[in-house]
Amino acid sequence: MAMDLFEKLEKVGEGTYGKVYRAREKATGKIVALKKTRLHEDEEGVPPTTLREVSILRMLSRDPHVVRLMDVKQGQNKEGRTVLYLVFEYMDTDLKKFIRTFRQSGENIPAQTVKSLMYQLCKGVAFCHGHGILHRDLKPHNLLMDRKTQMLKIADLGLARAFTLPIKKYTHEILTLWYRAPEVLLGCTHYSTAVDMWSNLCYISIVAELVTKQALFPGDSELQQLLHIFRLTKQCL
Ligand code: ADP
Ligand code: MG
Repeated sequence: MAMDLFEKLEKVGEGTYGKVYRAREKATGKIVALKKTRLHEDEEGVPPTTLREVSILRMLSRDPHVVRLMDVKQGQNKEGRTVLYLVFEYMDTDLKKFIRTFRQSGENIPAQTVKSLMYQLCKGVAFCHGHGILHRDLKPHNLLMDRKTQMLKIADLGLARAFTLPIKKYTHEILTLWYRAPEVLLGCTHYSTAVDMWSNLCYISIVAELVTKQALFPGDSELQQLLHIFRLTKQCL
């Protein structure tokens, strides 16, 4: 049984579609991150979204600023259905958690750190775009980081799924809204031409959040989200 190879240590994240655990590979003692992919309730087999995430990761994982996918393992859940585990290198935090620790201590993130993180993000995104891949869900939760080396890695390359599976109404779904580009909020479906705009908006809101430790556009509905963006844009004009 593939999953007997790992010992789950703790849950480190729960996204829209699955859970992520810190785990130890029994044979080597190596600490890894296991992302368990939830299966679609009515369909057989591996969801196309997972296949897509794996094939994209296989292509992009060799960049130092994209999280490294080490392996894919198959297991079974309690109901006897197949579950896939993506085995990643373990990173000790993500930008959301990193910002939160600074907010709690009342300290500012040093300007040099903000610069270095944004530089690494730009490099990682340039690598993805250079390979024809749009991330489409850049936000602090999806940017992993090593606290000691301050190395940043882009994670969660599976957003295409958001357009194929029904989205659960979780609070982090609302959070995703905070980083959504205006043309997408307005229902634009030809967003491939607006990639740069999308990325730019994400960069601006991520930099602002690193500096102020608060989300830049914390909307609680699509309309609110647009109003937040328009209000700030108007102030800048
Ligand atoms: P989802 O598709 O469900 O959003 P993510 O890949 O974004 O899943 O992972 C959810 C959370 O799990 C992340 O926000 C992060 O906190 C944590 N996480 C993901 N990958 C790793 C990793 N390689 N190392 C450490 N933590 C991770
Ligand atoms: Mg995520």
